[in-house]
Amino acid sequence: MHYQPKMDLLQNRIILVTGASDGIGREAALTYARYGASVILLGRNEEKLRSVAHEINALRGSLPHWFTLDFASATPEDCQSLAHKLSGLIPRLDGVLHNAGILGDIRPMDEQDPQTWQAVMQVNVNVTFFLTQALLPLLLQSDSGSLVFTSSSVGRQGRAGWGAYAVSKFATEGMMQVLAEEYKQHNLRVNCINPGGTRTAMRASAFPTEDPDKLKTPRDLMPLYLWLMGDDSRRKTGMSFDAQPNRKPGISE
Ligand code: NDP
Repeated sequence: MHYQPKMDLLQNRIILVTGASDGIGREAALTYARYGASVILLGRNEEKLRSVAHEINALRGSLPHWFTLDFASATPEDCQSLAHKLSGLIPRLDGVLHNAGILGDIRPMDEQDPQTWQAVMQVNVNVTFFLTQALLPLLLQSDSGSLVFTSSSVGRQGRAGWGAYAVSKFATEGMMQVLAEEYKQHNLRVNCINPGGTRTAMRASAFPTEDPDKLKTPRDLMPLYLWLMGDDSRRKTGMSFDAQPNRKPGISE
């Protein structure tokens, strides 16, 4: 995407990023802060979150809020309690990037381990929903809220071996579409991003023999991540965007 946002694109915006400790989420949190946003970091690993928070402090001169929540065990009550804490700290949320996710097992359906299946659904779908439900009141306080989910090419077209992960990403696309319709008349847009193959730990575990140098980095994807959080995408809702539109799904040759 050729998009050159102004450096103050996200000035006065408050944006929460899940899975902000690593990979694409870490880069998105840093990028949003670089473009003026106050970011709120969510992840499960305190040490990694603290390190991202300190990088943001170096950029902006103020330490962002960060919270640990392990999605593997998080309940709806945990998500409500987080939202309650947030509402004591911030007046609204202008954006939420649902980015945290796990891969599960890459193997055929008849070999998918039911416990791993449930873990993938818990992290990728259930907690994403619990958090969305808890954060909606804060998002609806914004005059231009943006709720962004993270999808995948296997969440639009099933592919052998991608089991729970693919099914969870179909569910994510569905969640986005339902919410987009429900909030059409409000100042809240709801969309998905499919990052496409990107140089991260998750990608390396899915394709261990692939040369990571042939992949885009999280930073390369940021124009779309910025566009969807800023005012230039104000009228878009219910859509699923590709951060790498010309890339064919699968291993990079
Ligand atoms: P990474 O594995 O690099 O990062 C995943 C993030 O999610 C990390 O911050 C991780 O935390 C967090 N996370 C994982 N499990 C939990 C949990 N139980 N509780 C809280 N946080 C958790 O993955 P990517 O950056 O590659 O992926 C980001 C998103 O993009 C995912 O939704 C993924 O499905 C999607 N995607 C990625 C593609 C790619 O090629 N990379 C392609 C298509 C989609 P921690 O640092 O503690 O591990």
